[in-house]
Amino acid sequence: MHCRSLCYVRTNALSVRRLNETTASADSAPLEDSLPSFDLPLITGWDFLPKTIQQSVLENNNKIEKLKAEKDGSLAWQEIQKYSQMLRDGNVNWEDIPPEDLDIRLKWAGFFHRRKRVPGTFMVRLRLPNGIIWGYQLKALCSFLRRYDLQNTCFDITTRQNLQLRGIRLEDAGIFLEELTRLGIGCFQSGMDNVRNIVGSPLAGIDPYELYDTRSICFALDEMISNGGKGKPDFANLPRKFNIAVGSYSVDTVHGHINDLAFLPIAKDDSSGSLLFEILIGGLLSPKRNETSLRLNLWVPESSILAVTRVVLEIYRDFGFRNSRATSRFIYLIESWGLERIKAEIVRRLEEKDVVWLEPLKNSIADNSAPVIGSEIFGIHLQRQKDKFFLSCHVPVGRLNVQEAEVLADIASNYSCGEIRLTVDQNFILPNIVRTKIESVLQEPLLRERFTHRPRPLSKGLVSCTGSQFCGLALIETKNRSLELCKILEETLDFPDGQTVRIHWTGCPNSCGQAQVADIGLMGAPAKQDGKLVEGVDIYLGGTLGVNSTLGTLYRKGIPCDFKYLLPIMIELLQTHFGARLKEDM
Ligand code: SF4
Repeated sequence: MHCRSLCYVRTNALSVRRLNETTASADSAPLEDSLPSFDLPLITGWDFLPKTIQQSVLENNNKIEKLKAEKDGSLAWQEIQKYSQMLRDGNVNWEDIPPEDLDIRLKWAGFFHRRKRVPGTFMVRLRLPNGIIWGYQLKALCSFLRRYDLQNTCFDITTRQNLQLRGIRLEDAGIFLEELTRLGIGCFQSGMDNVRNIVGSPLAGIDPYELYDTRSICFALDEMISNGGKGKPDFANLPRKFNIAVGSYSVDTVHGHINDLAFLPIAKDDSSGSLLFEILIGGLLSPKRNETSLRLNLWVPESSILAVTRVVLEIYRDFGFRNSRATSRFIYLIESWGLERIKAEIVRRLEEKDVVWLEPLKNSIADNSAPVIGSEIFGIHLQRQKDKFFLSCHVPVGRLNVQEAEVLADIASNYSCGEIRLTVDQNFILPNIVRTKIESVLQEPLLRERFTHRPRPLSKGLVSCTGSQFCGLALIETKNRSLELCKILEETLDFPDGQTVRIHWTGCPNSCGQAQVADIGLMGAPAKQDGKLVEGVDIYLGGTLGVNSTLGTLYRKGIPCDFKYLLPIMIELLQTHFGARLKEDM
């Protein structure tokens, strides 16, 4: 085994540079001789930046921007293959890989090294536009994970209706990527300064009341931005991450209001009869700042959505701020320019390309009194298609082990033509179940005992981010703790019929668990207990979804996670705000 740090990197100047070479033996062959050869792209994300931006990036002190300038993240799409093969050949250990590649750049390929919690293993985040995955795909992913100790693997459904796989080793990345290609799934551009998974309605095409089927546009957006998760450099070097959602109603059921860009169908164009979408921009949840999106006051038909998205991304890529990670999300550019200037620039670019856009039509606002189905609906329901039903099931905090995922894949194959829809609430929906199979699908042990369609009032609204079990940024453990607290509260309290309380846990202010959109949000924070620093939470209250959605506001700060402190506060909140009552025998 050669023991050396990897010392040759490809740079943005398309040259090979020698950095910090250290070798264990003086007579060992130069490392470049042993590098497998892979075709590198001629164009990287860096090459799409205007020269002025490239220059200013080189001059500023943003560590991540400098790292991207030295070697663009999109090069990880090839280098991950190289590292994988070198590890397989036994030429290096993962510890020999430069940390800026291992811990940061590989995220451009969807591989997240878990250095702090499970060093040497990776979480892989897929791209699943509109949250759709098929039984055969899930089954194949399970087969792949079976090469590892299953104790160290699992699947997590995310709040962007996406899937994360845990426990993958870098030496297997090449085989894994081949398998993904065979399955028609991508994972490139799922992390760092990229457009994240495109969110659409999980009931698209089957919802009896929807105004719009979001599936085609979500896939088209994913194709335009990431080449279906296989990587496309045009938008692979943004100032920061960027979230996009497309809704099926004028009412926001896809959390469009916390996305950087969202399209919601709002009215019909009287002359053409085509559906028009309103555009929301600038929503975000972040450690420094949380905002609901702003109306751009510009409507477009479906045929203009791709062009609008491209134009918005070009503006953000070319003018977004890159000096500080804390102030580089899209909202900061919007504020600096002002909404009118952003709109004028978007319109100017659309007109250059002859793209159709409209000022909002007066007297043409959609009627919000029409029925709306949110993704939090559970149970079996009639679809828009005659005699077809969808079954909405609850996944406790979005986590499935490999055995459960295998059984779910089989259930999907047997009952829903293989299709599985993931939701932003970390649950799943099985569509297209025929009437004659309803009884038998409801009797499936996995769906009776584990992923029930009749969750209890708190369980059904429970969402949790990864937390400290796997995430190096976490301030607290979330998934197990949230389940335990939920169980105690459900054993302690009765709720009015039909009551749902959405409780979201998030392990740190990055808010992947979206604490601010919940009825009650719990965000990891330092707390003091008996004079000592302990794991704690800040509590948010009053986040709403749908019409006039709002973010929750801070209610209590620094409450220790110890249930001695947290439980009474939660009981009181549930009693005073959500009609809960102590069970009679308590
Ligand atoms: S919110 Fe924080 S702790 Fe939770 S997954 Fe995101 S980064 Fe990790």
